[in-house]
Amino acid sequence: YGNESFSVSDYTETQLISEAFNKILGKIRAIDASRQEFVSNVSHELKTPLTSMKVLADSLLMQEEAPVELYKEFMTDITEEIDRENKIINDLLSLVKMDKTAADLNIKAMNINDLLELILKRLRPIAAKRNIELVFESFRPVTAEVDEVKLTLAISNLVENAIKYNVENGWVRIYLNADHKYFYVKVADSGIGIPDESLEHIFERFYRVDKSHSREIGGTGLGLSITRNAILMHRGAIRVYSKEGEGTTFTIRVPLNYIA
Ligand code: ADP
Repeated sequence: YGNESFSVSDYTETQLISEAFNKILGKIRAIDASRQEFVSNVSHELKTPLTSMKVLADSLLMQEEAPVELYKEFMTDITEEIDRENKIINDLLSLVKMDKTAADLNIKAMNINDLLELILKRLRPIAAKRNIELVFESFRPVTAEVDEVKLTLAISNLVENAIKYNVENGWVRIYLNADHKYFYVKVADSGIGIPDESLEHIFERFYRVDKSHSREIGGTGLGLSITRNAILMHRGAIRVYSKEGEGTTFTIRVPLNYIA
């Protein structure tokens, strides 16, 4: 037959290469689709406050001799929309920072008890407004190698959510513990909880359980993706347990010694 050069093993190799190529192509397409979705979500989120501002300003301009009170009322609404726009942009900037590689971490040995105390001190006034009890319990002093800014942001988001999605007169409990390898922070709340079908989505960018309710309480849907990315950069893990109408518990686990 004179064609021994094309053997069975050659054929298998060609097939393997083509399978690998298709796999990579599939991945590139998925990344591109997710990038497009992200850009379209960002545009939509940024446009919403702008649309409201435009409507408010236009309706003021259309009125001949609008009373001062009306101006004040509309300007207050416009200012709120500006604040909202600002929050979305700030969250987006944080998210971009957290999307980078671990090389961007600024690792230092930190006292985690102090770090948590500081976060709670800052958030206590917000909790007090809704008469929510904020309790911190530490089982031992913990020192760990972390990026102070990113870890602070990650934990602040969890505590802020625990306050925001809580009930009046509710409670938020923060626990700190450690073993020989990791430290653990648990943020438990007595809040509204998260429905089972939403649990797998809450770490996605812009995902909110109840859009209108979250909007009312000033959410962007970016907080938990920022938190998750920050924890993953530290080679840590985050878990959530929740029961609708009863409350939610987030647990993070972070290595005591940073592994480059
Ligand atoms: P947001 O800016 O809307 O708070 P997050 O990414 O921080 O965005 O959270 C995503 C969604 O997960 C929230 O909109 C809310 O529906 C839900 N969620 C987060 N934390 C809690 C919590 N502690 N209790 C109940 N629901 C929560």
